[in-house]
Amino acid sequence: MSDFCQIQDWELFSGSGRPWVVAGPCSVESRDSLLSEALCLKKIGINVLRGGLWKPRTHPGSFEGVGEEGARWLRETGAAAGMRTATEVANARHVEVILKNGIDAVWIGARTSGNPFLVQEIAEALRGTGLPVFVKNPLVPDPELWTGAIERFARCGLKYICAVHRGFHSYGESIFRNPPFWQIPVELRRRLPGLPLLCDPSHITGRRDLVEDIARQALIMGFDGLMVEVHPDPDRALSDAAQQITPEALREMLGRLRMRSTSTPDAEATAAIDDLRTGIDRIDASLIDLLAERMSISESIGRIKERSGLTVLQTGRWNSVLARVRGMAKEKDLDEDFITEIFTTIHRASMERQLKK
Ligand code: PEP
Ligand code: MN
Repeated sequence: MSDFCQIQDWELFSGSGRPWVVAGPCSVESRDSLLSEALCLKKIGINVLRGGLWKPRTHPGSFEGVGEEGARWLRETGAAAGMRTATEVANARHVEVILKNGIDAVWIGARTSGNPFLVQEIAEALRGTGLPVFVKNPLVPDPELWTGAIERFARCGLKYICAVHRGFHSYGESIFRNPPFWQIPVELRRRLPGLPLLCDPSHITGRRDLVEDIARQALIMGFDGLMVEVHPDPDRALSDAAQQITPEALREMLGRLRMRSTSTPDAEATAAIDDLRTGIDRIDASLIDLLAERMSISESIGRIKERSGLTVLQTGRWNSVLARVRGMAKEKDLDEDFITEIFTTIHRASMERQLKK
């Protein structure tokens, strides 16, 4: 699957430049507020207006989106402001509505992209339309599900497909509404290198004060652009109020963000990086050697445990290993959670070896 259309060739973004930005309210609320916001966005160079129409919330009974009527507002606003429009579709009926109303692009929400029944239904409804599709990551941090959804659209002949990273559900504490787990979009890019990739810092953070930092990290990492929730009066937004920013804040943020390139004509910089990478490669080789040695010691321990009827899991020992390496990490100014993650993986692999013996 390599015939994705490069984002610079997307007609949807004509007149735009890097970073490619889709912006607009979480939900379309009224015709008037949409138009005044669109005019502000257009003035700051945004050409693609987003706005959700169908908004089933976690609990029923609150604002659930303006529905079909808003599709007309979206189209009329796009025409009046000279912008292209995008909204979320979650089933074939939504697709019918947006086609009837001439909406220019759709996105697949995180609650939908993990459901192959719905993805297939939507992909078939879009077949032959050539409409651009933004595929948000599913709630679960699983690159298979995300890739699978993208494949379904590609198999229905859609060429304008873009992935949108909006963070993942997670248990435990986080400052984020949906922690980014960057390794998942990194894996997606490894698998589908030609696929355009945007970051949605609004849904990742859930808080407007963190939006810029995530947007910056995404662009530094090599994302192609952003999908940002913008509202003229964010605190009064009917959905996702805490994470929306004003058009003015978006303008300021975009003014501060810088794009990077995947390559440079600067031969000196390239040579310096190549040289340093030789050092990295040497260290990686030593790490592999050390891991192999550690594993073989662990195997010997496993044989003794078996002979003497000892359990493979020795919680006291594992706790003391963890405490020791965390202490050493701190001394060397290494992130303790990073070291915990690595040693948890090493310990798991080590126990697996002992279980197989
Ligand atoms: C949205 O973009 O408004 C939305 C509902 O996003 P997600 O599906 O990522 O939660
Ligand atoms: Mn939202």
